[in-house]
Amino acid sequence: MKVSAHRAFALLKELAYERVSCSEAEKKAAERLLEVALSTGASAHIEEFPVACGRVTHAKLVVTEPYVKEYECTGYERGLSTPEGGVDLAFYYAETAEDAHMPNVKGKAVMVNGRLGKKVYEKLMKAGVAAILTFDGTTLDRRSETDCDIRKLRETLTEEAGACTALHIRTMDAAEIVRRGATKMHIELTNEDYEGTSRNVCAVIEGTEKPEEIISFGAHFDSVYFSTGVYDNMSGSVIIMELLRYFAEHKPARTMKFNWYGSEEQGLLGSKAWVKAHEDELDKHVLMINIDVAAPILGKNGCPVLATEKAVGYVDALMREAGIACDVKLDIYSSDCIPFADKGVPALNFVRFGPPGAGYIHDRRDNLRSGYLSAEALDITLQQALMFAKRVDAAKVFPIERKVSDEIVKKVDEYLFKKKDKK
Ligand SMILES: [Zn+2]
Repeated sequence: MKVSAHRAFALLKELAYERVSCSEAEKKAAERLLEVALSTGASAHIEEFPVACGRVTHAKLVVTEPYVKEYECTGYERGLSTPEGGVDLAFYYAETAEDAHMPNVKGKAVMVNGRLGKKVYEKLMKAGVAAILTFDGTTLDRRSETDCDIRKLRETLTEEAGACTALHIRTMDAAEIVRRGATKMHIELTNEDYEGTSRNVCAVIEGTEKPEEIISFGAHFDSVYFSTGVYDNMSGSVIIMELLRYFAEHKPARTMKFNWYGSEEQGLLGSKAWVKAHEDELDKHVLMINIDVAAPILGKNGCPVLATEKAVGYVDALMREAGIACDVKLDIYSSDCIPFADKGVPALNFVRFGPPGAGYIHDRRDNLRSGYLSAEALDITLQQALMFAKRVDAAKVFPIERKVSDEIVKKVDEYLFKKKDKK
């Protein structure tokens, strides 16, 4: 039996629709992945987990002084609803929330640059802001060709600081608001918090010789809003499905687990839930192999390794031996490898990134019609991952030490907002 990039690409095409965390579509994709996984003869099932969700039914932003204009906006899910009829607030643009801005933000609608991070959010909340505005896109966007993104106040942000009224707008509108010197605005937000259900699809093949050693393959199958998530990350999802097919027929020496994670885009929620539910078996895990983003026609292969320099040397040598161009390095990667490394399981990622202009992520351009993906390009990462999986599985002694270096532990801790012990 041979793996087939064309079969994988056909499955990718079939599942090329928006699959946002806890949506009906995410559930539908999970059920289809389960069906395909079961058809390989492997045992497989779905594991559900709860997700803190929000439903925004109304959001409005009107600049009221010194001019009057309503702007397109979206409300943050899990944002604090305004009272009936909304609120009228003074407006202040705080750039990146540097200290020099802080005396001016209290009680105001405050706009900041970039993605709303935990540090900035907590700083603004501590300073007593009344509402937060964020923006993304470019000043050159055409409204008909782009979307005003939908964001969520994640639990990691609000767990200490609490919720705030927050709206998201387009960069071109943010620029206009500042250029025209807005000083007052009217804001309305209606959000309802609820507990949603997301899913991981899990398949297992028992090892024939060393069943007590587990190699875990992972790929997230959810997408963000407006994106069909073919590049990020149905590409990785269908690649590990081909690996499952292969090893279902060519039984591995070690036990292999294949997990398709839901809700990765909301903060690695699927892999965090999986690691938590399977804590008692993690000490048997010798390696986690994650694939998140593959198949761009123009591109470059990379392999961030969350383990040790020794592991990097081993992976790099294997790639050289096989003649595969791959930038192997010791580093973290923002994906489902993180919760595993956090528990001491060495992890690595096979990824193929498109150069600027030939690899679109997290918006409507992550779509087959954008013409930057192909089955032939998907085959590069598929063959790379298969070669690697066969080699490590066949090893007499597992070639990667079960160790995560201090440098990686530090980066993972920062990524997960872990508090440093006060000494
Ligand atoms: Zn991804």
